[in-house]
Amino acid sequence: MMTGSAILILTVILIMLFTPLSGTAFQFLFYLLSYPFALAASLFSKTVREDLKLIRFDPFNRDEEKVLKARKLSFFKGAAVLRMRGRSGAFGVILLDRFENASALRHERGHLRQLMLMGVATFLITVALPSALILGPYDKRGRFGYYDAPWEALADMLGGTLHAQTAEFIKNARTYYLLGHLIIPAFFWWRRKPRRKLRPDRRKR
Ligand SMILES: [Zn+2]
Repeated sequence: MMTGSAILILTVILIMLFTPLSGTAFQFLFYLLSYPFALAASLFSKTVREDLKLIRFDPFNRDEEKVLKARKLSFFKGAAVLRMRGRSGAFGVILLDRFENASALRHERGHLRQLMLMGVATFLITVALPSALILGPYDKRGRFGYYDAPWEALADMLGGTLHAQTAEFIKNARTYYLLGHLIIPAFFWWRRKPRRKLRPDRRKR
């Protein structure tokens, strides 16, 4: 049997996980820890040292081009950026594919802000999961672009980049966030497709 205090603790943890409290705490922990880790790594790796020299060892660097030049590790607006091969992503740190551009970097930074706004559990369920699985009609070959998905369009908005989404998709992104970060079943809202017809040039993507 659970005691009253156990139930209380569990309730608090659940509230944390599904509110901006956990997202913000989690992300700040990564903001705080990434830099000392990077400095330690620079002692052992010449490549990391050269990467950090590009940004003059400034974790708050805002120059995207310098981040794109880094071979292993860089910083962008407080966040650690790990260069790798494969799909880019963001959770505490930014994983950025070697061939990505500045727009993708801003987009991934947007995911970190999204995480802070949503909370860890909400982010994992309503953003990380559908994004990793490319759920819904949103993918590179489908009728809608990958970045038209509400969870991706919101990352674009928060990161300061726009992959040419129409007003309808932006509205979808706002609604998705408002519902999703409060009510878990609203996660299934992604199934709703925009009503407006797309311009012919967008259909080819
Ligand atoms: Zn994304």
